Amino acid sequence: MSLTLFEKIINKEIPAEILYEDDISIVIKDISPQAPTHLLIIPKKVIPKLSDATDEDQDILGHLMLLAGQIANQLGLDETFRLVVNNGAKAGQSVFHLHLHLLSGRPLNWPPG
Ligand code: 5GP
Repeated sequence: MSLTLFEKIINKEIPAEILYEDDISIVIKDISPQAPTHLLIIPKKVIPKLSDATDEDQDILGHLMLLAGQIANQLGLDETFRLVVNNGAKAGQSVFHLHLHLLSGRPLNWPPG
């Protein structure tokens, strides 16, 4: 089976601006930022989308959420950011390897589009 785009980034086959990496996750800058800060928080395990996650993935999902808050604090985002998970093509998901978008640095209106 072919690798996902994010597996290729994790394997360093495709370059990316990596802000953080550990055994469970990697954090990169989005190539097409939708805000002054637009990061992707990606588990190394391939979970195609959030709705595919199982109880077995609980620690990974918790890790991603905690990491989002820690990275936001480290970057000094003034406790103002948004996390987005697009789940499924109709919700805008284009890369089928779970990832959290972390957006900050501009007004984040509600409701989202
Ligand atoms: P999705 O649409 O699946 O929720 O989000 C995928 C994200 O991956 C998009 O925001 C898109 O800009 C980003 N992306 C697509 N290709 C690349 C790439 O090669 N490098 C990086 N850093 N981001 C990418």
